[in-house]
Amino acid sequence: MKIRLGTLLLTSAALISPAAAQDAASVLQAADKAMGASAVKSVAYSGAGTMRYPGQSYEPNGDWPRAPMTSYSATIDYGSKSAKEEYAVDVAKKERGGGLAAPRTTNFVSGNYAWNLNAQGQPNPQPTQAELREFIITISPHGFIKAALASGNATIEDRYFNRLDQTVKVIGFTAGKYRITGEFDKDNLLTRVVTWFPSPVMGDMAIEVRYTDWKDVGGGAKFPFHIHAHQGDHPLNTGGRNWFDIRVTDAKVNVPEAAITVPENVRNAPAPQVRVASQKLADGVWYIGGGSHNSVAVEFKDYVALIEAPLDDARTNAAIAETHKLIPNKPIRYVVNTHHHWDHLGGIRAAVAEGATIVADDRDRDFYRNVVLAPQPRSLSPDRLSQFPFAATGPGTLALQTFTDRATIGDETRVLELYHVEGLNHATDMLVAYLPQSKILVNADLYSPPPAGGNLQNVGENAVVLFNNIKRLKLDVAQHVPIHGNPGPQADFERIVGPVAARSRPTGDGG
Ligand SMILES: [Zn+2]
Repeated sequence: MKIRLGTLLLTSAALISPAAAQDAASVLQAADKAMGASAVKSVAYSGAGTMRYPGQSYEPNGDWPRAPMTSYSATIDYGSKSAKEEYAVDVAKKERGGGLAAPRTTNFVSGNYAWNLNAQGQPNPQPTQAELREFIITISPHGFIKAALASGNATIEDRYFNRLDQTVKVIGFTAGKYRITGEFDKDNLLTRVVTWFPSPVMGDMAIEVRYTDWKDVGGGAKFPFHIHAHQGDHPLNTGGRNWFDIRVTDAKVNVPEAAITVPENVRNAPAPQVRVASQKLADGVWYIGGGSHNSVAVEFKDYVALIEAPLDDARTNAAIAETHKLIPNKPIRYVVNTHHHWDHLGGIRAAVAEGATIVADDRDRDFYRNVVLAPQPRSLSPDRLSQFPFAATGPGTLALQTFTDRATIGDETRVLELYHVEGLNHATDMLVAYLPQSKILVNADLYSPPPAGGNLQNVGENAVVLFNNIKRLKLDVAQHVPIHGNPGPQADFERIVGPVAARSRPTGDGG
């Protein structure tokens, strides 16, 4: 039977027969034997390669910024469902775009607990990361075989691949809500895993991991010495994004050091919850904080504009609810999106479901209209917009207004000005929002003020770009309101960023 990739997944349930289940069991047993999976209790491997910053591209829908990974090491302990990974990146060689380029990253997961190490080497709870990290254990080379055998629901299909002109055996199974598929080569080694993971921006987002260059690593086990991963394939966004690529130089199985103890502060960390704390900044202007990403609500005569719909449905719905509490009986007509990075974009679907028009840079138009706001498969994590009938009526029907240099929202009571930020390496579509009456400037990812009168540890290039844009646009700013962090006065900004901007101003064109 020749069936093309894509159609098979929709019809696979109808294809299960006792014979196919038997066939799946024998393929899995052969793979288990070839890879030594059942005998692998833990694995430790190391190497080097490339890593990317998901959802942090410079161009909307562009490739994710890449950084050379000068070292990578990981351990997985299957019994305790725990894993650790540690990598160093060459920060100076990171491509433009977003993402925190820390020289060294150490991530952990153990069951429902996830954490990393902060700059001081102390454990920092990351409860929202546990699900993905556990999932990566499930789709690791030996983890896949263990999970497929344990599932009891594995099926096998012949799948024809145009690019190979070849028919390949594909094992599929479900683990909880996840559908996972794997392909095997003639030696019964797992060569490719394709699965889906929920993303607030992309919906059911494909994850693809290729395992090649299998070698004996002792104990009757083999391990792939080349691991290459993609994320972000989408029916309307052909071609996924490179995620990471690791050339393994050393791998060992059944290593005692793989067992991990959950630190006390991680075990006792509160469950993740959406917290909103608002404060009035000026007449008709409210800061909606309480989390890692803020919003700002601006009141007009007949409606409200909300600046930023960050993270996901939960965060943005909470910001919307707070806005209605602060400004009752007025619709949220506009939601301003500062730029396309996924942590700032994940709530625009909730904003559309609320009935708002999204206002963004014109560079975002195609990606937002054709992918983010288009009807998407969202079976893994349905959101507010996916429940609306109009979400299934096709691209172009949703409210999106874009601009190139500047735009104004307002009436006789108040004005909100939006300006494109020039000269930025963080994102090509960045805007800042300015309120001339209250002299408030709202920025994302450019400048987070220190406590009043304080200093920043270092002044980044984004703050200098903000400084130059304020001068270029001749904005009379009194207060900076960041999407990350707390408001601060312009006097501090001038004192802290001014001298750095003066030193770094390019010669010749006057900056
Ligand atoms: Zn950003």
